[in-house]
Order: sequence, then structure tokens, then C-alpha cells
Amino acid sequence: SRTLTRLTAQPPDAILELISLHAQDERERKIDLGVGVYRDEAGVTPVFAAVKAAEDRLLRSQTTKSYLGPEGDIEFFRRLLPLALGSDVAAERVAGMQTPGGTGALRIGAELIAAANPNARVHVGAPTWPNHAPIFAAARLELVEHPYLDPANQTVRFGDMMAALEKAAARDVVLLHGCCHNPTGADLDAVQWQAVARLCAERGLLPFIDFAYHGLGDGLEADRQGLACVARHCPEAIVAYSCDKNFGLYRERVGALFVLAADRSDAALAQSNLLSLARANWSMPPDHGAAIVRLILEREELSALWREELENMRRRIAAMREGLARLDPALAFLTRQKGMFSTLDLTPRQVAALREEHAVYVAGTGRINIAGLAPHDLQAFAAALAAVR
Ligand code: PMP
Repeated sequence: SRTLTRLTAQPPDAILELISLHAQDERERKIDLGVGVYRDEAGVTPVFAAVKAAEDRLLRSQTTKSYLGPEGDIEFFRRLLPLALGSDVAAERVAGMQTPGGTGALRIGAELIAAANPNARVHVGAPTWPNHAPIFAAARLELVEHPYLDPANQTVRFGDMMAALEKAAARDVVLLHGCCHNPTGADLDAVQWQAVARLCAERGLLPFIDFAYHGLGDGLEADRQGLACVARHCPEAIVAYSCDKNFGLYRERVGALFVLAADRSDAALAQSNLLSLARANWSMPPDHGAAIVRLILEREELSALWREELENMRRRIAAMREGLARLDPALAFLTRQKGMFSTLDLTPRQVAALREEHAVYVAGTGRINIAGLAPHDLQAFAAALAAVR
């Protein structure tokens, strides 16, 4: 009469396996492009100076750790709103709250949709972040894949994507990456965003934008243009925002869910449902990281410092993309892609050869984290790629 023996074993996280292989590798010059976190030229994932300064203030000024509510730090949410969505979106249209990371926002957003329309299907381009499928499955929503990247040409299969969305039913969900598509780096351009936004508006589809890398593509303002376009065209939209990359707060789990409703009364309905979903999932989100982001957004000098640090990260990533393109014209597409990730058209054998013969660690899918490269790695990496191809 045991319970746990009835479980089915689950596959381990592929990236975690890669981490341990890399750790065991004793070769001197190894290149790790597996793990999906930002790294500086020394290979360190740094704590932002703006974060350290805000933590210092918090340490001195915080007088209680008593509970907040299920919506978390309301001032964090209020300050993040114009940064995330731009100042054109009327706050009265917006429901939402602080969440445990972008993952928490995706999960509670999915559950909100399931509560309103359990039959909604979620249309998503392939490939996408591997956690999307289990998150939407956990909310009992059906995921439907359509083509997204053409790996040989490294371009978006936009015609195929639109053809798939044309067949979607009213009130189905369209999952989009706000910027810096993970794992391909291939973002929609302004014309494509407009076409998708118009299609969603015409066919009554609900855009759900996963916005996890704001500021790491073309900058804070440029990176939210796709989202802004959707907000202009569509009466409703959902945005899952993560502060974990652009504030370097990963393990502190900082995110927010923004629900754009057609009017004030729908926004209030959404808000009451979100509060009860948050209570059932995590009662309330962890405070520390969001309090830091709030302090940074509240104080002009900390905001300026944060923006400068984020901009330096963004420039470093872009410079690595440009460096590779200069070394090998076959890699020129990297400069048209944005953010930390691109997915190379590699066979599993080529991925294995990179690791075994060149000490270059790439995810089994061919995804590379551009931020895993330092300037002194570029030559060796380009040469290793050419050698296995
Ligand atoms: N969406 C995408 C596309 C991501 O890559 C990630 C993080 N890997 C997330 C959401 C979740 O971010 P967080 O760590 O804030 O939960």
C-alpha cells in the first residue's frame, strides 16, 4: 500500500548534466556555452553594483519582515509597469502582481486563462524555452506547436507561423517572446509584430508575451516595441515579466504578471482571480529581490547606475556576436539575432565532437549562450565550429 512507488521517474534537466560534464573536464581551455545566465569577460555572473547599493539601503532601512499580501510589493509593481510596458498603456487597464520570477508569472497567467477558458489552446513556435510546455500543461492547457526557426537559414518561418495562427480558434492563446527569443535569438521585426498583433485582434486571439530578457537585445526602449504594438492593437494581452536577467537577480526570483484588460471592470475581475490563484500557489512571493528592484526604480541615481550596467551587458553580448561574424562569414546571422542565445544547426554528433575534441560545451539542441564567450575565446570557438562542420 505504498504511494511513492507508483511514480514514474522523470528525465533529468539536460543542462544540469552538461554543467557536471563541464565541471569534470580537466582541460585547461574549455568554453561553456551551456548554462543560460549572463557572464562577464571573466566568466562571472556578477551582482550589479546597483543591486548591492540597494541591498545596503534595504538592510539599513527595513524595519519589519511581516507579511505583505499575495500581490507582493505593490510599489515594485507600480514602478515596473511603465518600464515594462511603456508609458502609453493606461494603468487602469492593467491587472497583475509581483510573482516568483518569470516562471511564476507564466504559471499564474496560464491558470488565469484556464479559469476563464479551459478549452483555450496555446499556440507556440518551435523551438521555444523547454519549460513552456510543462508550465502550460500544469495549468491543463493544450499546447500546439507551429514552426518558428528555419535552422538552415537562421530566419523566422514567418509565413508558416502566420498560416498556423490563421487556423487558431477565437480566444486561443498565442505565446510570443517579447525580445531575445530563447533559444534562437531570432525576434520578429516591427512589420511582423504588427501583422501578428493585427491577426490576434481580428481573430480574437489572446497574445501572451513572455518578456524575460528586457534590455538585453536592442535596449530597454527598443525591446518593448513588439509588446507596445500588441497593446495598441489588441483589447487583451498578458505579459509575464522577469527581472532575473536584467537585474541579475536570478535566485531571488523576481517577476511580475501584467494582464491588459479591455476595460476597468474586466481588469478588476482578473485581479480578484489572480489574488486567489497566487494564494493557492505560493500565498505570497518572496520579498527581497522585488524590494531591491523597487529601491532601484525609486531612486534616480540607482536607476541610472542600473541602466548603465545593463547597457554594458547588452553591448558585451552584441560585441561577441559581431566578433564571431567577423571571424567567419558563415556566422554573420548571429548579428541579426538578439540576446544571449542562438541555436546553431548542429547534429548531436557535432555537439559531441565540440565537447570531446574541442572542450566546447553546447546544449544538445545546438543552443549557445553567447554570454559564455570572452574575447579571447572567439578564435578558438569559431575554429572548433569550422572543424566539426
Ligand atoms: N521565459 C524564458 C524564455 C526564459 O528563458 C526564462 C528563464 N530561463 C524564464 C521565462 C523564467 O525566468 P525566471 O528565472 O525569472 O523564472
